[in-house]
Amino acid sequence: MKLYSTLNKDITANFKEAVIKGVPPGGGLFMPSYLPKLRDDFYKSHRDSSLPEMAFEICKILIGDEIPDAHLKSIIFDNLNFDAPLKKLENNKYILELFHGPTLAFKDFGAKFMAGVLSYFTKNNNKETIILVATSGDTGSAVANGFLGKEGIKVVLLYPSGKVSKIQEQQLTTIGGNVTALEIDGTFDDCQRLVKEAFSDTGLNSLLTLSSANSINIARLIPQSFYYHYAYSKLENKSLPVVFSVPSGNLGNITAGLFAKEMGLPACKFIAAVNANNIVPEYIRTSVFTPKPSVATLSNAMDVGNPSNFQRISSLFNKDYEAIKELIYSNSYSDSETLKGIKEVLDLYDYTIDPHGAVGYLALKDFLKEQNESFVSIILETAHPAKFNDTVTSAIGKSIIIPEGLKSALDKKKHSIKMIADYNHLRDFLKGFE
Ligand SMILES: *Cc1c(COP(=O)(O)O)cnc(C)c1O
Repeated sequence: MKLYSTLNKDITANFKEAVIKGVPPGGGLFMPSYLPKLRDDFYKSHRDSSLPEMAFEICKILIGDEIPDAHLKSIIFDNLNFDAPLKKLENNKYILELFHGPTLAFKDFGAKFMAGVLSYFTKNNNKETIILVATSGDTGSAVANGFLGKEGIKVVLLYPSGKVSKIQEQQLTTIGGNVTALEIDGTFDDCQRLVKEAFSDTGLNSLLTLSSANSINIARLIPQSFYYHYAYSKLENKSLPVVFSVPSGNLGNITAGLFAKEMGLPACKFIAAVNANNIVPEYIRTSVFTPKPSVATLSNAMDVGNPSNFQRISSLFNKDYEAIKELIYSNSYSDSETLKGIKEVLDLYDYTIDPHGAVGYLALKDFLKEQNESFVSIILETAHPAKFNDTVTSAIGKSIIIPEGLKSALDKKKHSIKMIADYNHLRDFLKGFE
């Protein structure tokens, strides 16, 4: 697999280099130079396949010979070992449930796959790799669970004390094993600053191998394209045009859908469903991309004021605004609309949706209203509603069932190391890994 930097096409890397570096030197993001086409009978032949079976074939032609087949197969089968069921709401309208991984959100796909790939690429290193992650909530636990138990890897999570939800804190601090949670007396920005300081500390980096497992790593995106193909292969009716509605923040998930389309997924439209952080709909309306400070909403995993993967989308379309507008529909929803959306989905379809999925539902509804033809539509449900228990309960007026996995994390004893937001303390702590 060959990749280039979105800022400078002359900067290239193979898959291994792109995964280990995370971001290209000089900024920008790594982008595949070429996305190969799936064979014509791919979906037909995979009608009854599992997600990992399909993923293996897709990944093989995408990554090429950088990872031998047997290893690639075990990376996929050992890490993507949870399903993404397609649930029918009504005729031609589906929900793709992406929350059956260990932290009950779709980020598990990216985090688990990247953990598998990175531990494969670093397994012959004589030094341990330390993954340093600053988290404001969900990303940290997905990454940590991805790397849990991986040989030669330690994970250090930094989270702002008192600034994540109770459920999130339990998910961050009860993992154990090779994962340590640092509870920073400060804000998320302090956590990010500390991590940055560690990466730019040349003295420390000569002692330790640090890695960021960044959310913009290409290894996080690739596995997210698998479930688009998987969902399509499971559709009963393939005669109508297909639209995917994607609750969006940093646009990683929708970018993965666009990758899938490049490889042959017959989708005619992608919906970037957003909350009050309306940068994408404003771009589609005006052709101007204007980042703004993010605002807090009920669908907080999408509170992004400068969606990082926009660079990749723009690059995929050679900056052709008209082409982007043709394929992507986008709309923004307030918190009160989101609450009504959750209630409406329950009333109409007897389905409990989370606040992120509800935004996806609302955008799909508005899109369909504007169309004269019929579609098969798939809403990506990015998190389990129980992760947003308070919001969902207040929307529907009754409590919801908490899955066993989450319940057991809530009962476990919290283990964190408290630390003030001062780099000297982090450095001393990290030196302990030498
Ligand atoms: C991260 C996240 C999103 C947004 O996904 P992007 O790839 O950043 O667009 C949506 N929903 C949930 C639950 C998330 O955790």
